[in-house]
Amino acid sequence: MKSYSQRSKLDQKPIFEKKLRVLIDLDGVVRDFVGSLIRVYNRVHPEHDIQAVNSRRLEDFFPIGPAIYKFMEPGFAEEIIENALPLPGALEALRQWKNEYEIVIVTSQPENIRALTYSWIGKHDLPTNEVHITFQKTAIAGAVLLDDFTDNLQEFADSGRLAICLDQPWNQDWAGLRVKTVDEFFQLIQKYQFNQEKNENIKQQLT
Ligand SMILES: [Mg+2]
Repeated sequence: MKSYSQRSKLDQKPIFEKKLRVLIDLDGVVRDFVGSLIRVYNRVHPEHDIQAVNSRRLEDFFPIGPAIYKFMEPGFAEEIIENALPLPGALEALRQWKNEYEIVIVTSQPENIRALTYSWIGKHDLPTNEVHITFQKTAIAGAVLLDDFTDNLQEFADSGRLAICLDQPWNQDWAGLRVKTVDEFFQLIQKYQFNQEKNENIKQQLT
């Protein structure tokens, strides 16, 4: 028989609780990337007028056009990411629901801001045990995805799972489920769970 006498208090595992895995996107859902980009841009180009961003084509709203993507590269990227604010209520909602759901962060990030993104997640103490930086969100196990990018939502829905859109000016063409806040998202999936006979997908992933 194995001896456990060499173990310390730090080696004790907490009781494992199986929770529904919910996949949560970062930018446009938890982190206000566009707001931070606008603040930094305004500081650098105070004389420029930025149009209201209502599509993902950022070059259409910033007077420097396609050079906006260059603007997001090292130099200003650090400031944009580090100083990005959480979207109102998002962190509070994640903390409020973290005991009910396994919160998995799934975010697509260019390589140059990957480390900054991990730092941002740490700085804001996101209640997650898992962070995936990937362009292949459908490869990650999880019953539900909350995202603001309709391509991601469509791919996830096509994989037979529940895709929920976080309402933003740039995703108004999404015809599926939509919520205004992260808290509303959790309330909605809770409703789905209580209505399991109609939602075999979630039911199967829960058992
Ligand atoms: Mg996003």
